Amino acid sequence: MSLPGQDAGLTPMFAQYREFKQQYPDALLLFRLGDFYELFFEDAEVAARELDLVLTGRDGGKALGRVPMCGVPYHSADAYIARLIERGHKVAICEQMEDPRQAKGLVRREVIRVVTPGTLVEPRSLEEKESHFLAAVCQGRTGFGLAYADLSTGEFAACELSGAHGLRQLVEELGRIEPREVLLEPGLERAPGITAPLERMGAALTPYGSGAFRHEAAYRLLCRHFGTHSLRGFGAEDKELAVRAAGAVLQYLEETQKTTLGHITALNVYYPGSYLVLDPATRRNLELTRALRDGGRRGTLLEVLDRTVTAMGGRLLRAWLEQPLLDLAAIRARHEAVGELVQAPLLRGELRSLLGDMRDVERLAGRVAYGSAGPRDLVALGRSLAVLPSLRVLLEEAGSPRLVELRERLDLLDDVRDLLGRAIADDPPVSPTEGGVIRDGFDEEVDRLRAAARDGKSWIAALEARERERTGIKSLKVGYNKVFGYYIEVTRANLAAVPDDYQRRQTLAGAERFVTPDLKAMEEQVLGAEERLAAREYELFAEVRRQVAAQVGRIQASARAVAEIDVLAALAEVAAVYGYTRPVVDHGEVIEIQGGRHPVLERVLPEGRFVPNDCLLDTGENRLLLITGPNMGGKSTYMRQVALITLMAQMGSFVPAQAARIGLVDRIFTRVGASDDLATGQSTFMVEMSEVAAILHAATRRSLIVLDEIGRGTATFDGLSIAWAVAEYVADPTRIGARTLFATHYHELCELEGLLPGVKNYSVAVREKGDEITFLYQIVRGGADRSYGIQVARLAGLPRAVVDRAREILATLEQQEGQRRARREAAAARARQPVQLSFFESRPHPVVEELLALNVMALTPLEALNLLHSLQEKA
Ligand code: ADP
Repeated sequence: MSLPGQDAGLTPMFAQYREFKQQYPDALLLFRLGDFYELFFEDAEVAARELDLVLTGRDGGKALGRVPMCGVPYHSADAYIARLIERGHKVAICEQMEDPRQAKGLVRREVIRVVTPGTLVEPRSLEEKESHFLAAVCQGRTGFGLAYADLSTGEFAACELSGAHGLRQLVEELGRIEPREVLLEPGLERAPGITAPLERMGAALTPYGSGAFRHEAAYRLLCRHFGTHSLRGFGAEDKELAVRAAGAVLQYLEETQKTTLGHITALNVYYPGSYLVLDPATRRNLELTRALRDGGRRGTLLEVLDRTVTAMGGRLLRAWLEQPLLDLAAIRARHEAVGELVQAPLLRGELRSLLGDMRDVERLAGRVAYGSAGPRDLVALGRSLAVLPSLRVLLEEAGSPRLVELRERLDLLDDVRDLLGRAIADDPPVSPTEGGVIRDGFDEEVDRLRAAARDGKSWIAALEARERERTGIKSLKVGYNKVFGYYIEVTRANLAAVPDDYQRRQTLAGAERFVTPDLKAMEEQVLGAEERLAAREYELFAEVRRQVAAQVGRIQASARAVAEIDVLAALAEVAAVYGYTRPVVDHGEVIEIQGGRHPVLERVLPEGRFVPNDCLLDTGENRLLLITGPNMGGKSTYMRQVALITLMAQMGSFVPAQAARIGLVDRIFTRVGASDDLATGQSTFMVEMSEVAAILHAATRRSLIVLDEIGRGTATFDGLSIAWAVAEYVADPTRIGARTLFATHYHELCELEGLLPGVKNYSVAVREKGDEITFLYQIVRGGADRSYGIQVARLAGLPRAVVDRAREILATLEQQEGQRRARREAAAARARQPVQLSFFESRPHPVVEELLALNVMALTPLEALNLLHSLQEKA
């Protein structure tokens, strides 16, 4: 933005404004003027548009003339700022740093904070049970550095993503974190591999000066912040990329917040490879935290599992769900703790009811450290911490190692609780400057001032009766107003009885108001005491807040232990209420589930309507389960249920099944056919294929792959060929050999069983009665021989005439097919000579050549059938 004109001719205020604007050119500058934050020039136009405000103007002096202006009242500014941030703007808040009445000349102003999408802390703009991350990404020769922080809780973590799959892993991590804002090392804003997925997530992208990402500067900044000589203690010593990204996050926070960041007490350097990996498409598809339909929480696994009672627990549960473990010992420790709490309903109930009294200690502590906590925040913090001792006592009953460890980690914070309990009144006002904040008995001066004010007030209160008696005026009244202070009011009729020491102050229609020297003296005592009291109370409040802030690391440690206890109790509650069982998790390669259920669908359906199913997957004979059967038969549900049960087991939850054994899975992939996909922009088939490509590159023998109707988005032959080749590739132990569930409507693929080791056919059971079919939702051995498409179409309400006609056509086609089959079988016998099906490797046959020359996309289904027929004749 450019401001026209020279200093000459600019009013002093606009000269000051211009200085700030030059420092924050890319932010909307909110300039405090009295009770308003005003915006000027283009900022005003943008804000007027975004916030629906009236654009006015202000005289800018000779050079500027009338300057466009709009403003928001300071007391409701939070809501406006939140809206501007939501629309992707940054906002710099420029405050008056002195009382304008006392300022000599121009009021001193300063930018006290820059608010950006990743650095919101106002409670009303944060989702309770969601984290709110600012991230930074940088690139080096070996890969990428990633760091992220939640300013509201002080969580701060960093990792490195290197090697051949660095970029993919980076995108996966970003998909998990879902940052609101990402700082990009210069140059990366032109890397669509990074920016495109971030834009899809709705993250704000902020290219950030390269200085911040320099290793040396970052290292020094982090050491200075944590007060350490090195970063060895954080395991970050040789993690150059992680350190660079973390340094950028910290520097940006310092620049924008301009306050201490005391609640950021540690940097968690982690290895993404130590968690079960879920790529963004898989997360979306399994509806872990967002429903496919509307992006909401309803109908997600999170909704089913989230029985946490604290906001901290809610956020941690979400993190567990998004980062299931690979470490067997840690998984078993969680299962054991959950198991213990399932077995002990009383303990669980008491724990949950205690935890229910806890407010969001993590964020409260954050606000304390940040200096934005008010008196009521301190009361809430004190009351929440008061729960700790009972919590600890209750946990004496627990015996599982994890719960014992958490109990030991609970810092009871006696000193902090004691301080808060003694210092802060029970029901203080919102603002720390109004008085009434400090508890009686905490500070002698406060007590003395309060007594003085109280005495004065009771003297005044008794004055009315005294003066009535002295003057004999029954209607005499003592009152108070802002302009004249305390007064004695006498009606006109009684004026004759007014004593000499009354001094007249104000004349009303029917009465006169007076004061006496005594009254004035007492008034001064009261008002003076109250003024000094408020100042003293604020001073003490700020001091208490500082002392609590100094302990913020301990408070957070306790808060984290509380969060985990909450999550374990919540998982136990879900397990008990919904009848989940403890899965056996081991290093084997088998997934064996008996009576498994889909955790979300079983909640949606009426009680008892969900049909449980078994599953046996391994890396030997049962490597690829090929599932056929009609649409709506339950294929997707079944496959997703196996993936969800696996994921739940590895996050430490019990699972909806009679019994389950899960051989650790390193990654879960799910891909659904094009028509189910919500991706937009690229052609859906293209998206589907690039997702399949990603799986084929990334899957290992330890992975679990779910492929639902792949190849559906293109012409039949293309689709069939692709599906076939993909099945071969994933089932081949020399390529991938992963445990795979593969649903398809290409019945031809059923031939793979017997041809390819490890492939087993399954189908969804259907009961036929005359023309009608009923879905049984049972997964049974063997491929489906029919697709029941016409029956399903009829169920969907296709007109009778269309259904009948379709049946006629089908009969004809089936008849032709019968004739062809005989010929085909003879041909297949010839083709099967080398046992592997050599669909693509055989020498070109004239039919193959003709096939290759074809533009399949240009064919109608009927042409394709005819062509197929003629090719068969030639074969
Ligand atoms: P497909 O993938 O075969 O088209 P879906 O898995 O989408 O079928 O299932 C279609 C519908 O069938 C589901 O929305 C659900 O209402 C019902 N369904 C699926 N599996 C079950 C089950 N095991 N028990 C009861 N109903 C089921």
